Amino acid sequence: MNESKALLMLKLRQNGVSNPEILKSIETLDRSFFVSKNFLSRSLEDIALPIDCGQTISQPSLVAFMTQQLEIPQRGKVLEIGTGSGYQTAILAKLSSRVYSIERYKKLVDRAKVRLAKLDISNVIILLQDGFFGYSAQAPFDRIIVTAAVEEIPSLVINQLKIGGIMIVPVGLSNQQQSLLKVVKTEKGLDIKELMSVRFVPMREGLVKV
Ligand code: SAH
Repeated sequence: MNESKALLMLKLRQNGVSNPEILKSIETLDRSFFVSKNFLSRSLEDIALPIDCGQTISQPSLVAFMTQQLEIPQRGKVLEIGTGSGYQTAILAKLSSRVYSIERYKKLVDRAKVRLAKLDISNVIILLQDGFFGYSAQAPFDRIIVTAAVEEIPSLVINQLKIGGIMIVPVGLSNQQQSLLKVVKTEKGLDIKELMSVRFVPMREGLVKV
């Protein structure tokens, strides 16, 4: 392992990421594959970086933390909203039986599909859709992860979570710090816990088909 990768792995452990499968998937997945050429030299730094369409690839420690908080069960079916580069998607793919990932920019969908195919990841379906609607065709999901900030928990999406399921979602105004929420759906309603402050790009309505 090179020095930057070793530093990144140390940082993940310091941030409380202990799940061996998650640590291994971050260690083995080459993040440089997901960042734009201009930022290649910084791909192992634990920072968010710009990608196409004015979006960002998340910080690896946050990707690992959110994945750990999802507590994905064996053979779990996961819905991801906000494919972006496909980096978080690839990590989810290693821990679940099937991932449905939704993105509103066609360009990002096309690029993420190519990346995952090159990595021989075949248990992911990436769809050009508006995440506010979730993906009813495959609902209910065991787990749902939202990687763009919403002002409130999207009702159509939470309806697609199984009872006993977990949703991780950043909630707050787009130009401010948001709260990363862990939402557990129970028979009686939603159990909501605030995990940490985060800053994600906002979730926006509608598709961008170019
Ligand atoms: N996890 C990604 C980060 C993506 S940034 C990564 O590591 O690369 C958030 C993504 O959510 C952006 O790509 C943005 O285009 C997408 N997004 C925003 N609003 C959306 C919506 N309504 N439906 C689907 N995707 C959306």
